[in-house]
Amino acid sequence: MEEQRCDVLIVGAGPAGLAAADITSAAGLQVVVLDDNPQPGGQIWRDGVQARLPGFVRRLRSVLAGRPTLRQIYGAKVVAPLAPAGLLYETADSDSAGVIRYQRLILCCGARERLLPFPGWTLPGVTGAGGLQALIKQGLPLAGRRVVIAGSGPLLLAVAKSVRDAGGRVLLVAEQASETALLRFILGLWRWPGKIWQALRLSTFGYRAASRVVAASGCGCLQRVTLQRGRHQQTVACDWLACGYGLLPNSELARLLGCQLEQNAVRVDQWQQTSVAGILAAGECCGVGGSELAWVEGQIAGQIASGQLQLAQRLFAEHQRWQRFARQVATTFTLRAAEVTRLPAETLLCRCEDVSWGEVSGWENWRQAKLATRCGMGACQGKICAAAAQHLTGWPLPEPRIPLVPCRVSTLLLLGQSQPEE
Ligand SMILES: Cc1cc2nc3c(=O)[nH]c(=O)nc-3n(C[C@H](O)[C@H](O)[C@H](O)COP(=O)(O)OP(=O)(O)OC[C@H]3O[C@@H](n4cnc5c(N)ncnc54)[C@H](O)[C@@H]3O)c2cc1C
Repeated sequence: MEEQRCDVLIVGAGPAGLAAADITSAAGLQVVVLDDNPQPGGQIWRDGVQARLPGFVRRLRSVLAGRPTLRQIYGAKVVAPLAPAGLLYETADSDSAGVIRYQRLILCCGARERLLPFPGWTLPGVTGAGGLQALIKQGLPLAGRRVVIAGSGPLLLAVAKSVRDAGGRVLLVAEQASETALLRFILGLWRWPGKIWQALRLSTFGYRAASRVVAASGCGCLQRVTLQRGRHQQTVACDWLACGYGLLPNSELARLLGCQLEQNAVRVDQWQQTSVAGILAAGECCGVGGSELAWVEGQIAGQIASGQLQLAQRLFAEHQRWQRFARQVATTFTLRAAEVTRLPAETLLCRCEDVSWGEVSGWENWRQAKLATRCGMGACQGKICAAAAQHLTGWPLPEPRIPLVPCRVSTLLLLGQSQPEE
């Protein structure tokens, strides 16, 4: 097993992680960036055969690749925190694992999509909204395919553009937020002029407010989607449904490290310092707010880790500007209360372990339901189904456990020989 030491370890190479890596490595610190994706970029700058990365991202990647003080490890997932100040990880493409010891840790773990169950949501042809975008970037052929996009949030419009760019036909975009909320949001955009241009560029025909998916159906794969708007239901024939209800911060590693949370997100102060000394956090693991906010938070965290308090302070005004935008987005796209009574009991909740909503809903909390039904014990370890259950029942998200992700037996043996951080 490889063991290495660094001044700064950054987990996550999205906008926040790359900004922090740029600043800390340029300051001469020994820096390691680790990410479970095969390439840098996180979600918004995800690479792939059909991805078109902005020029400045390509330039940043080549600058970072040439920094002698920076080591980048991709295709590597964090398995457990270790004492003292270390993380155990394993890589996907070879049978290897390693330990990194750090002076400072910057968590830039980003966010994941919130998927909510409905009848037919596990049919082939149904994915998350961002999930479809990731598939397109990896080369999924969509030419001529009829696509319905649904759920909530600005991501739906970005996905619609990706579908059109890939030759797909966007039949409609069903947004659960009300017309009033959307109108208020649009009228407030003058405070972020760049966003007006972005909204115009992404605007699409067939955008429907106050609409939601009630079912997807088909024989062996998706053939049609039923949508509800007010009292009216409409069934649309389609080949693909991309449905996601906003994003959820990836805060599991921070929780294992003992960092305090606030509404599922890592709690940080104005210096991006968590409640644990030596651990900073930046980007969407601290709250969903878009790539501009993630980028500026990554810069602040990088300056703090490099001891440059004044340079960090200079970023506060920009930080506040994007925080205001994030609040506006959150208010506009707040999820309406779950219509639990309408969810048929046989609808799958945990798709890894084939556990239905009816099997889970009778229990008092997630732990009881998990012990009785195996929900949340599969590959996703509850990242999808426990979050859905939280929306449907109000149950808090379960405490993460070691190992953080499913891993090889050889890595588990290493973990047994090391000292996990409690
Ligand atoms: C599926 C998806 C698609 C999106 N598409 C768009 C879009 O098209 N346009 C847009 O404006 N916004 C998009 N967003 C929102 C966008 O992700 C954010 O605005 C921005 O990328 C957040 O940056 P970040 O650095 O905080 O995190 P991210 O970009 O999410 O990067 C975090 C990185 O950390 C890695 N990571 C997390 N935990 C671990 C761990 N334990 N071990 C190793 N690696 C780990 C993740 O794999 C990821 O690569 C998307 C979000 C999602 C979830």
